[in-house]
Amino acid sequence: MRACVLHAARDLRIEDRPEAPLGPHDVRLRVRAGGICGSDLHYFFHGRIGDFVIREPLVPGHEFSGEVAETGAEVSRVRPGQRVCVNPGRNCGHCPRCREGRPNLCENVFFMGSASKFPHMQGGFAEHATVRDTQCFPVSDSLPFEEMAFAEPLSVALHAAARAGNLMGRRVLVTGAGPIGQLVMLAARRGGAAFLAMTDMMDAPLAAARRMGADETFNVGAGTGALLDAAGAMGGYDVVFEASGASAGLNAALMAVRAGGIVVQVGSLPGGETPVMANRIMAREIDLRGAFRFGDVFGDAVTCLEKRLIDIRPLLTGRFPIEQASEAFAAARDREKHLKVVIAF
Ligand SMILES: [Zn+2]
Ligand SMILES: [Zn+2]
Repeated sequence: MRACVLHAARDLRIEDRPEAPLGPHDVRLRVRAGGICGSDLHYFFHGRIGDFVIREPLVPGHEFSGEVAETGAEVSRVRPGQRVCVNPGRNCGHCPRCREGRPNLCENVFFMGSASKFPHMQGGFAEHATVRDTQCFPVSDSLPFEEMAFAEPLSVALHAAARAGNLMGRRVLVTGAGPIGQLVMLAARRGGAAFLAMTDMMDAPLAAARRMGADETFNVGAGTGALLDAAGAMGGYDVVFEASGASAGLNAALMAVRAGGIVVQVGSLPGGETPVMANRIMAREIDLRGAFRFGDVFGDAVTCLEKRLIDIRPLLTGRFPIEQASEAFAAARDREKHLKVVIAF
């Protein structure tokens, strides 16, 4: 089977790879659609994301959907031919973090398409992928595979929203209008946010955000003056989600949030130390919370997609065949033109 294999920064090859053996609880999938994520882009263009560095060939991809091709002897959750969204992560279920209900913080977590551990955990950008049955979430025939591939990033957004607590009636700011920022915005609206603002350095994703329901947008490419004026006039945002992955975004969040407000950091900042206006956290009693991947919300994300409770279609801007995987990565980085680019397998 053919797979996209990343050997180093900007060195993506389509290679033949052997099929993995099928264990009793395994499911072999015919992968049909894979969304390119910001972290895939970091691996592709820089050979790393934050502190995770590619040290051996890596099949990227953790946002994918497909059809069940073959099932192991003990599998009863799915059957061949079924269409499934794939949760790229699985946790051990018995470590202290798992036992307190925080599976995304599992000490023995497995997450596909990630170089966070060595050997790396291979991803889903391949014609076939072998996953555990518990990672498969069946979906009806009506939902296109490309939309199904949004289950993972939507899970990230639902988890981030949940980290902020009750959003009903809240004034919310999202810094960074990439796919995760947009999905967080949609999730916050679904959760009852009364006012939604977004920032970015580019106009195109902000225009998309307004089309999807943002009340106000700020291009902070030339500075955060207008944003902070607006925030000051309303007494600060109740909740800010930092989804830009830049320390400037995190600092803007700390400046724009009200005293006693909540900042949720979703974005992955560059590796190493980051200058942060930490005294504001103290003097204004800001709750700074991390949101990493997602907990037990994958099934909720699948339901949201299937019932279109959250309509992600405006985010889907590009489709490429596997033969043009490198072009797909280049397109995904072009934020003037694209929000989410999907590879078809
Ligand atoms: Zn992702
Ligand atoms: Zn665990």
